[in-house]
Amino acid sequence: MRIAEVHVYQKDRPLSGAVYRMSEGAYTAMDSTIVEIVSDTGVSGWGETCPVGPTYAPSHALGARAALQQMAPGLIGRPATGPLAIQRALHGLLNGHAYAKAAIDIAVHDLLGKAHGLRVCDLLGGATSDRVDAYYSLTVGEPDDVARTAAEKIAEGYPRLQVKIGGRPVDVDIETVRKVWEATGLTRLAVDANRALTSRDALRLSRECADIPLVLEQPCNTMEEIAAIRGQLHHAVYLDENTESVGHVLRAISLGVCDGFGLKVTRLGGLGAMATVRDLCEARSLPHTCDDSWGGDIIAAACAHLGATVHPRLLEGVWLAEPFMDGHDDSTNPVRVEKGRISVPTGPGLGVVPDEGVFGAPVASFA
Ligand SMILES: [Mg+2]
Repeated sequence: MRIAEVHVYQKDRPLSGAVYRMSEGAYTAMDSTIVEIVSDTGVSGWGETCPVGPTYAPSHALGARAALQQMAPGLIGRPATGPLAIQRALHGLLNGHAYAKAAIDIAVHDLLGKAHGLRVCDLLGGATSDRVDAYYSLTVGEPDDVARTAAEKIAEGYPRLQVKIGGRPVDVDIETVRKVWEATGLTRLAVDANRALTSRDALRLSRECADIPLVLEQPCNTMEEIAAIRGQLHHAVYLDENTESVGHVLRAISLGVCDGFGLKVTRLGGLGAMATVRDLCEARSLPHTCDDSWGGDIIAAACAHLGATVHPRLLEGVWLAEPFMDGHDDSTNPVRVEKGRISVPTGPGLGVVPDEGVFGAPVASFA
């Protein structure tokens, strides 16, 4: 079975509710890139990459599509059966751009699973559960509003919340965290600054919220800044944005900079890289999430499948964009958060098949 065709699609994904606000930007829509890989036996595998605008990470939608068009001609005729071999081939076609290679990696896993009647979670080592915990991310907002939404989400069944902070006076962030804690009493609470805090403000927030059992997620911009204050913090620290590759994760673990991770499948380079990081975390008993940065059913399915293979005691949950968006790419088997949990798709491959024409005409095709 060889790769016969590669198609690249673009899809705008408007957000259904109010603006989604993080420390470094506010968003009303996401620009997603979808890859379809077709085998010479007529099987299609689907992948996706959806950076959060151009400033969240060193990735952007136009870059994803340019990188995919650079690599795609070199994929035609290659065996479609080995995700690792394909990844190595991609490194020979383009340096870097893991977030674009991730879309191909996800598509190859989907194709392989569909061709052999196996779910992606089976290809990745086997699921420990048919449902995984989700967590909800509370956008940066007024303290009372955030606390009210937090209580609503706990009532819906979410077992874990993440509170976004940053980009404003730290006093307001501290007030927000305390009100969420008072409204929920939740012990699975992450406070995510998305790199925004100075070490001074991170220390102050941790000191003034020392009685709240929260996790500080990516409080400062760099691993070095976090390492410098780590000994003075009252809370566990997770890295997210700093985990740009398997090598970055390995460095963080070996330096003892953090107690866990918020992980993104596409930033790391796809499901293969994410599975490697999952195993490194298990070897060191480090909890982590299993997320991606937005996207539709393809990304959601990829995260759910990988999440189902994580040791249950280490899985901090799977974040999906689904609660923030209208509609699905697969209207028959959509991937949903229901009562704070996600059912792992049961069909072969990713278990999702985009509706005919849902992405429009390809922006580029190779055969
Ligand atoms: Mg994060």
